[in-house]
Amino acid sequence: MHVFYKTIDVKEFVNQILNQKKTIGFVPTMGALHNGHLSLIKTAIQQTDIVIVSIFVNPTQFNNAEDLKNYPRDINKDIELLKTVGCHAVFSPTVKDIYPEPDTRVFDFNGLDNIMEGKFRPGHFNGVAQVVSKLFDIIPANKAYFGQKDFQQVAIIKILTKKLNLKTEIIACDTIREQDGLAKSSRNSLLSAKHRENANIIYKSIAEINQYKSLSINDIKQKVINKINANNLFEVEYFEIADTETLQPITDKQKGKKAVACIAVWADKVRLIDNIILNF
Ligand code: AMP
Repeated sequence: MHVFYKTIDVKEFVNQILNQKKTIGFVPTMGALHNGHLSLIKTAIQQTDIVIVSIFVNPTQFNNAEDLKNYPRDINKDIELLKTVGCHAVFSPTVKDIYPEPDTRVFDFNGLDNIMEGKFRPGHFNGVAQVVSKLFDIIPANKAYFGQKDFQQVAIIKILTKKLNLKTEIIACDTIREQDGLAKSSRNSLLSAKHRENANIIYKSIAEINQYKSLSINDIKQKVINKINANNLFEVEYFEIADTETLQPITDKQKGKKAVACIAVWADKVRLIDNIILNF
């Protein structure tokens, strides 16, 4: 497996691949890799010739300095893990390399960045767009792989590629979970033992919704929020039921139409997100 720390080096590698007329699959990550990331990489390996994974903790998408400082990092462990799944190359640049100058670009996501994650993490999606557009420029992949765990992020990236006329196809992959249902996340390693033991309340509470056939959207929302907040280890930041396409909150169930239930929960100082597709 190739390991690149500099933009110039990965670009040269990409040029060689393109000259050989091979297809490129790209998986952007912030490292501290787990099975969720690996599932994206395995899918990329099945669908493209050469798979490149980036590991870059992007400062511009953090709206909280403490969160950036505490974000788990272990590049050597990540490299070993990537070798086990047959990844072809990893790109782990420095902040200076990606941002030789401050990135002042402001992106427009038709309001999608002002709701849910965007509302509670101001500037987050603009930072995501800054780094993804730079990475897509360095690695013009045929396909790029993102997790449905970050449902709103996938929607934003799709808008970004459309607005920038990029040829990279965005592939959304299923959420990988721990045995008890908790969505795998690099941040799970920051949970106290007590919080980890109880954290499956998040998935359990949203997975149950499909059984609440007779409840209105409002009643479902209250039920989920009350259930999680009743456990004093956790506090719901937001819980929304939204249209899967527009991501706008819905107020009424429409038979046969899909919706997505999205949640963010604080577990002490750790913020966890999850979502589930609902069939009404
Ligand atoms: P991150 O390193 O958290 O920025 O995540 C990198 C990519 O992995 C993103 O596209 C995430 O949506 C995806 N991802 C993270 N956790 C999971 C998971 N549990 N299942 C599937 N994909 C995931």
